[in-house]
Amino acid sequence: MSVTLISELRAIVGEDGVLDMAGDIAGYRGDLAYPQGADVVCAVRPRTAGEVSAVVAACARAGIPIVPRGGGTGLAGGATPSQASIVVSFERMRRIRAIDPIGNTMTVEAGCTLGDAQRAARDAGRLLGLDHGGAGSSQIGGNLSTNAGGNNVLRYGMAREQVLGIEAVLADGTILDLLAPLRKNNAGYDLRHLLMGAEGTLGLITAATLRLQPLPVVRATACVGVAAVTDALSVLRRLREEFGEMISACELLPRAGLELVCRHVDGAREPFDPPAPWTLLLELDTAARAFDLPAALEASLAAMMEDGVVTGGALATSEAQRAAFWKLREGLPATLIAMPFCLKADTAVPVTAIPDFIVRAGAAVAAVDPGCTPMPFGHLGDGNIHFNVLAPQGAQTPDLMARLQRAIEDVSLELGGTVSAEHGIGRSRRDALLRMRGEATIGAMRRVKAALDPHGLFNPGKIFP
Ligand SMILES: Cc1cc2nc3c(=O)[nH]c(=O)nc-3n(C[C@H](O)[C@H](O)[C@H](O)COP(=O)(O)OP(=O)(O)OC[C@H]3O[C@@H](n4cnc5c(N)ncnc54)[C@H](O)[C@@H]3O)c2cc1C
Repeated sequence: MSVTLISELRAIVGEDGVLDMAGDIAGYRGDLAYPQGADVVCAVRPRTAGEVSAVVAACARAGIPIVPRGGGTGLAGGATPSQASIVVSFERMRRIRAIDPIGNTMTVEAGCTLGDAQRAARDAGRLLGLDHGGAGSSQIGGNLSTNAGGNNVLRYGMAREQVLGIEAVLADGTILDLLAPLRKNNAGYDLRHLLMGAEGTLGLITAATLRLQPLPVVRATACVGVAAVTDALSVLRRLREEFGEMISACELLPRAGLELVCRHVDGAREPFDPPAPWTLLLELDTAARAFDLPAALEASLAAMMEDGVVTGGALATSEAQRAAFWKLREGLPATLIAMPFCLKADTAVPVTAIPDFIVRAGAAVAAVDPGCTPMPFGHLGDGNIHFNVLAPQGAQTPDLMARLQRAIEDVSLELGGTVSAEHGIGRSRRDALLRMRGEATIGAMRRVKAALDPHGLFNPGKIFP
């Protein structure tokens, strides 16, 4: 059957659009969380929504599931096949279809990387308000399907909030064209929101119309030290009062994390002296050219130092220094991802609960294994602290990782938080989803899935416990 299907797929997308040799498909078997999934029958690389529709129809007739794949940078195993599947890769659908600097929108194809979309927006004098460490390789389709978050959520919101319109292919091959760049559109159910965060289980996103922002022209970036996480929240509160929406990033790094990055990342250095127990990376920007933002931030931070809220810090005085500050932040997840037995947690709690969460999660980790090193870091401004944990050498077993993850997620749930803030459920957090959402909500999700994908064609083995 596979041979017939592969010929049919080649007839749709062309000879070079289908990869079925072992060496060629090895890279399509997983994402960063689960690099080795089940068999990939072949990887199909369509160029248009029409081709995607025909591929879906052919796979539906053959009864072979489809795993949609973006850049493979996901951290929950969403793009990793859980049974023999056809992988549909969007790598040849990378076009920027349109940019409208008056309406402040851009329409891009699913396979366009986030980095390329950001650059295209910038070239048009606009900003795409989504950014994170995986921007270089992750694709728009993957970002919308995971409802990615990242560094600027506190100002611009998650991926979902950038989306005005969507084009997608449903399980019966229907092409859903909802690309209208409208800010007001109350015409029936807003189906785009079903597809975002669905992790490829409800439809294949082929393009999206994204909201653009004014391009900031004045920026101020600082690293500041605080003695405690409660002080970090005081800094955030005071900056909000003084600068409002100008705050685009407020990232928290622990001492142990900063030391790790300085040891492992080329050129990474402590941002100021003496080092503090916690470091905040702050970025503020504005399109208001006349406002001297660096001077205003410096004055504000100086006042906070006088008040004892901030222990020290440095303001970036050049683009190179700003990049060096961000290298510290981006270097931490990249360093931790490269470590084989590092637990990568993706919890979020209400912002005011963060200090409590860090203390209680630390105690929960110590109760599981006192030799572990907690590495809580991340998006302070939106409550999404990644409570990563390094296990001691020799004690590193999958069972330990599972117990640590459970302990941290339990604390998050007790504080009204979530088990997955931005990475999604994929195949790694399906049990946690059940604990968090309960049968009634998951039952409703199953009914949505059954209505849109009655034969379970799209990404089986994901999300549902
Ligand atoms: C260093 C680093 C830092 C990161 N930082 C962040 C961060 O701060 N915030 C954050 O949210 N994420 C972060 N990530 C994770 C990752 O980049 C995001 O989850 C991203 O959205 C995944 O995009 P992708 O194209 O790689 O998707 P993939 O990994 O290929 O797929 C992700 C999911 O989307 C589905 N999918 C992909 N394309 C489509 C499509 N066209 N239609 C339907 N379904 C599709 C897949 O089946 C899968 O379920 C980081 C990753 C790295 C490597």
